[in-house]
Amino acid sequence: MSTLTARSSIDDAAVIGLRESFRGEVVGPADTGYDEQRKVWNGSIDRKPGLIARCAGVADVRAAVRFGREHGLVVAVRGGGHSFPGLSVCDDGLLIDLGLMKGIRVDPEAGTARAQAGVLLGELDRETQAFGLAVPSGIVTHTGMAGLTLGGGIGWIMRKYGLTVDQLVSVDVVTADGEFVKASDNENADLFWGIRGGGGNFGIVTDFEFRLNPLGPQVMAGPVFWPMEDATEVLRFYRDWIGDCPDELMTIVVQRKAPALPVVPPDLVGKHVVAVAACYTGPVEDGERVLRPLKQFGHPVLDLCAPKPFLAHQKMFDPSFRHGWWYYFRSCDVAGLTDEVIDIVVEHGRRITSPITSIALWQMGGAVARVGEDETAFNGRDAGFTFNINGNSETADGFEAERQWARDYWSALAPYHTGVYVNFLMEEGEERVRQAYGAEKYDRLKALKRTYDPTNFFRLNQNITPD
Ligand SMILES: Cc1cc2nc3c(=O)[nH]c(=O)nc-3n(C[C@H](O)[C@H](O)[C@H](O)COP(=O)(O)OP(=O)(O)OC[C@H]3O[C@@H](n4cnc5c(N)ncnc54)[C@H](O)[C@@H]3O)c2cc1C
Repeated sequence: MSTLTARSSIDDAAVIGLRESFRGEVVGPADTGYDEQRKVWNGSIDRKPGLIARCAGVADVRAAVRFGREHGLVVAVRGGGHSFPGLSVCDDGLLIDLGLMKGIRVDPEAGTARAQAGVLLGELDRETQAFGLAVPSGIVTHTGMAGLTLGGGIGWIMRKYGLTVDQLVSVDVVTADGEFVKASDNENADLFWGIRGGGGNFGIVTDFEFRLNPLGPQVMAGPVFWPMEDATEVLRFYRDWIGDCPDELMTIVVQRKAPALPVVPPDLVGKHVVAVAACYTGPVEDGERVLRPLKQFGHPVLDLCAPKPFLAHQKMFDPSFRHGWWYYFRSCDVAGLTDEVIDIVVEHGRRITSPITSIALWQMGGAVARVGEDETAFNGRDAGFTFNINGNSETADGFEAERQWARDYWSALAPYHTGVYVNFLMEEGEERVRQAYGAEKYDRLKALKRTYDPTNFFRLNQNITPD
């Protein structure tokens, strides 16, 4: 057995050759730092790759892909490591880690930004917000920009500016045979279509170019909390209130036990609450006016919705999704918040036991729904709401019960499911991936897979098989 790669069949000479050619770092099981480098965000995932290739640039990515192919290795690709089911790490094979590739360049005059594949959302926001600009992305700053973008990308400013992929201008890609190609509307347009929602199925994207949009830096944003006992009235009011709201307003309903955070009064911590978190992508005064009815409804127990820097708002959920906790997710889209759906939400919200279990119910629509369904591989632009049901525990202790709670909640909603966002899937099998894309789009994606990755070299993802 190799000392360098104790868990794989790769011989030492080959690994030494790769190490010598690499600008980044090649880490094997016997190397210092191996256990740190194989970790992903979800603590319930514990896999041991044979080798970790920490790429410093495109040349390293190409070398790693060729190495994986020559040695017939299972290959995982990691951007930010936030795949819920841990698809960005493998046992035994080769992990191609892009985390060192952190380059970001904002061009305020052209209104574009370029970001390499290891950039996290908070890092991109920090650079773009320095110019009062933003790329629509997600709601937790330590999420990887790469994986999020490749699945579509939903977040606080999407109802105004669309999905992350709607602001994507071009990408650089290393294909399954280690070749370098570019894709945009004008070059390899079929690949560009597939990359905007089709995940990592077609190659490794090393560089993303986005269009920028004006934002803040000050926004009216934050959550308003009510006791869970008031959830039926709050949710019915919420449904009617957002019925004709402007695209500038984006909201997420949260159910959980109030977290032990400095902003939460001690007597509220641990109590079941329902919250509506908002972000207004426009002038603060307009946001204050639009949000007033929400803030005045019923008897909120805590109101943290106020003018603040967008960067501060973006970090709001970070402490609730720490690295290393155990996470289990179920997700579905629903068309609307009918009384029946609200009853299910209220019933299951009351049953939350873990202090870190929660749901996020995303308001969709706005600019997302105005892009044609066929324009990108992302599917479900007409979704009314997206449920993200998180059964979480800090360790293995109690995880099974949380998992069961999430499954039960999701199953109760089954009669109302309309689809699912591919980035919110666990490892649920091919049929669910097909559901996420819809049959027609899935067939188109399969054809693209046959062109760009006929041997399914990139398979540790929400896999679109070539056959
Ligand atoms: C705490 C948390 C918050 C989230 N919030 C949001 C949100 O607000 N909005 C939203 O839309 N989604 C959200 N998600 C889901 C998120 O979009 C996906 O988990 C996404 O895959 C994460 O990207 P990553 O680069 O961190 O993941 P990774 O685990 O590194 O990768 C995910 C998948 O993409 C592939 N991949 C990664 N980088 C590349 C690349 N450069 N080229 C080719 N393939 C690649 C991987 O192989 C893997 O299959 C969230 C997830 C978490 C854990």
